[in-house]
Amino acid sequence: MGKVVGIDLGTTNSVVAVMEGGKPVVIANSEGMRTTPSVVGFNKDGELVVGQMARRQGVLNPQNTYYGVKRFMGRKYAELTPESKQVPYTIRRDEYNNIKIKCPRLKKDFAPEEISAKILRKLAEEAERYLGEPVTGAVITVPAYFNDSQRQATRDAGRIAGLEVLRIINEPTAASLAYGLDQQTSQKILVFDLGGGTFDVSVLEVGDGVFEVKSTSGDTQLGGGDFDKRIVDWLAAQFLEQEKVDLRKDRQALQRLTEAAEKAKIELSGVSVTDINLPFITATEDGPKHLETRLTRPQFEDLCGDLVSRLRRPIKRALNDARLTPVQIDEVVLVGGGTRMPMIKALVRSFIDKEPNENVNPDEVVAVGAAIQSGILAGEVKEILLLDVTPLSLGLETIGGVTKKLIPRNTTIPVRRSDIFSTGENNQTMVEVHVVQGEREMAKDNKSLGRFKLTGIPPAPRGIPQVQVAFDIDANGILQVTARDRTTGREQSVTIQGASTLSEGEINRMIQEASEFAEEDRQRRERIEKRNKAKALTDQALRRLKDVTLDFGTQFTSGYRRQIESLNAEILDSLDKDDERRLDRAEADLQDALYELNREVRLQYDDEEDEGIFESIRRTLTGDPEDDLPYTPRGGVYGDDYNAPRYSDRRDYGTPRYDERQSYGYGRNERYDDDYDEWEETPQRGSLGDRPSPRSRRQPPENRSYQGRDSESYYSRDRSRRIPAENQWDEEDDDWF
Ligand code: AMP
Repeated sequence: MGKVVGIDLGTTNSVVAVMEGGKPVVIANSEGMRTTPSVVGFNKDGELVVGQMARRQGVLNPQNTYYGVKRFMGRKYAELTPESKQVPYTIRRDEYNNIKIKCPRLKKDFAPEEISAKILRKLAEEAERYLGEPVTGAVITVPAYFNDSQRQATRDAGRIAGLEVLRIINEPTAASLAYGLDQQTSQKILVFDLGGGTFDVSVLEVGDGVFEVKSTSGDTQLGGGDFDKRIVDWLAAQFLEQEKVDLRKDRQALQRLTEAAEKAKIELSGVSVTDINLPFITATEDGPKHLETRLTRPQFEDLCGDLVSRLRRPIKRALNDARLTPVQIDEVVLVGGGTRMPMIKALVRSFIDKEPNENVNPDEVVAVGAAIQSGILAGEVKEILLLDVTPLSLGLETIGGVTKKLIPRNTTIPVRRSDIFSTGENNQTMVEVHVVQGEREMAKDNKSLGRFKLTGIPPAPRGIPQVQVAFDIDANGILQVTARDRTTGREQSVTIQGASTLSEGEINRMIQEASEFAEEDRQRRERIEKRNKAKALTDQALRRLKDVTLDFGTQFTSGYRRQIESLNAEILDSLDKDDERRLDRAEADLQDALYELNREVRLQYDDEEDEGIFESIRRTLTGDPEDDLPYTPRGGVYGDDYNAPRYSDRRDYGTPRYDERQSYGYGRNERYDDDYDEWEETPQRGSLGDRPSPRSRRQPPENRSYQGRDSESYYSRDRSRRIPAENQWDEEDDDWF
């Protein structure tokens, strides 16, 4: 079994952490960030992009860029509010009333679980890269208020990503695990978590290594994104009034508005006023239109008054359920980026007259807790016991549509409860068990989790048969319901799949597709790498040719130049035509040609070295003075240290030493060329030069194939040094570069 990681699968951002040497470590992604945007996209070539790359393409490719998908996990289409359907990509209802996300680029639909699986996969791969070993399991966090279907959907997403989901834990529980790892004394903690899409509040009792969740409450449809949306609406309304254009109807404009709104919101956590500028946001018959405005913190707080009020109820409820008053709370822990808003901190302070604890990084604390939980499961962390609770009551529908609760909310899990039910009519041989979750009296007002039938009950007057219904919730909060006829012993049971979650068949298909997609991705990446390598080889060959020409003259390289140029052309043409076999052949030939060229260069150096040795023997024997530049050939065939000529040896030329030269500033235009990863110089005067060659340093000026210029110097690739003027390359000779 490989490693198990802890994953905070957030609405906006996700984080992965792992236990290493008994300590939780947050793993930075390959872009160097410790949090990864929970954004998945397909770029113009249909390639999968996840995280920052996906986020970046959002504005230009909104239909194929999916964010905030956690809000759709485990939900029915009919459960969505009109507001939550307002996203720049298209969501639709499938034949089972489930949510499907359209991907025009791939011409297919995805379930929210599949999109989340791609985020989980990326995080697992980042962890594998960091750990150098496979990651096979995960502890994934969910908002405490997630119902059974949402938990099940999260678990399915893990499975589709190829991970064994060892435990689903509540985010606030994870946060307090991270917070309280070193706490010795018993404390009552209120965790207030305002993330991108959800709000949770939990009360925990922590002490002696036991974490007991006393109560949880929250709102699955309220988060930082709603605060952004207020700004979006405000901006759009202003624009509509001024320009008579509704920007919300234009997907790209909506995406830009949303990004600008989030930026403004974040800025307003630190400053009291911010400018919002969106040039060319749209165009009308009168030409392009720009959005330019200013938002103050009080204005923003005004726009969000009702959202802040909505946060109050769950806090009260969590305290009531825990049978605690605000003064009994010892510590308030803030989790989630949304808690950085001053109005949110003020709200928390108004409830509990304590400075919130800000020791823990609100962005990482949940993943850290998940990693600790993975350590507990692996036996690495022994001194902690996590006692989680059910977030909502679970029950079944009885006669007249009334809910009978079997497990009240905030019951510590794992738990098993059962009760006896009977038939409502004479000779009834079948009962239907309808499992619901929620606090409402009538079953229809609660979330329907599933139905199943128990048949074969012997005919009897109503009220006589005894059917025992048992609810089992495992440590992940996943429910199994069993109904047993006590007379016949007939039994029927189901693991509640949650209404919107996928069938086993669908999950298996998605697992299969995900691994095929991974294979396709791998092949595509390999193809791209191969193309880049071939292109790099052609560049390298040209550079090498140029260097050798500088060293030994055009005569020396003319045969190679023809060969290399023709092979380069062949490579570029086969890249164009996507002809892999021809590409492989041309690449191998080019490598051979380079090898030959280098071999000849080496022989040439060896000859020169021999000449040098003989010359010095001759001088020793004859007593002649040293009258030429004592050139010492350098070891490396590629002469990487060409840029570091031994200037102390150059006195005979009368060239000033570097330290004597004055104008060190960058006198030429320099441009960074991404493709070549080196500084390219654009000459202001004269022609482009390259490195000084050993030969050029060795030969007296009159013998060189270039002409010295006395006024202008240029820079070597190593920008820190200035190369003497006489080593410049003649314009006439470099026309083939
Ligand atoms: P999380 O889900 O914890 O990553 O939280 C993400 C949410 O926090 C997003 O809605 C962000 O816009 C929001 N957020 C992050 N930083 C700040 C900040 N400094 N002020 C206000 N909201 C923030």
